[in-house]
Amino acid sequence: MLISVGEQITGHKIIEQKDILFGVADSTEGGMFRRNAIKKLIHAAELVGANAITNLHMEIYQTTPEVTEATAYGNAVVVEQTWGSVSHEVKTITPAGLQPKVDDSPEAEIMDANGYKFVVCPKCKSKYKADIDENNRIRIVGFDDVDDDEPGLQIYCLRCGSKFTVPDSL
Ligand SMILES: [Zn+2]
Repeated sequence: MLISVGEQITGHKIIEQKDILFGVADSTEGGMFRRNAIKKLIHAAELVGANAITNLHMEIYQTTPEVTEATAYGNAVVVEQTWGSVSHEVKTITPAGLQPKVDDSPEAEIMDANGYKFVVCPKCKSKYKADIDENNRIRIVGFDDVDDDEPGLQIYCLRCGSKFTVPDSL
């Protein structure tokens, strides 16, 4: 729970106002009653789903000659961090079992079957139907080059995850 005596929480923006809440404790509870009042306020804020309290105030009353009462109150709010440690990891989705980067991917073989050409994964022998683009180069529909550093078209095998080079032409 983030608590501030001001209207804002540093580094955060208020995205939802919940309610003005109170926590009350008195000296019959012992010497820590001021702190208890704040604890009760925090508990009340948790119950309404807040993660911060702004405008925290504390009032102390002498209710009887023997008893002092503390009232802590503030605005229960929901805040969101605007800067700092929030980071989103960006992950590229690739087939499972992805191999570490290789600079020299093995070149796939081409095979004929039923009048079609297939590119064959050098590792697991999975077949990918070859298409010929307007420059007479082999392409596989749905696969883009995954390695700009290496010459030619490299793809990841969907089955075994190994990276291989598609032959330039038939
Ligand atoms: Zn494979």
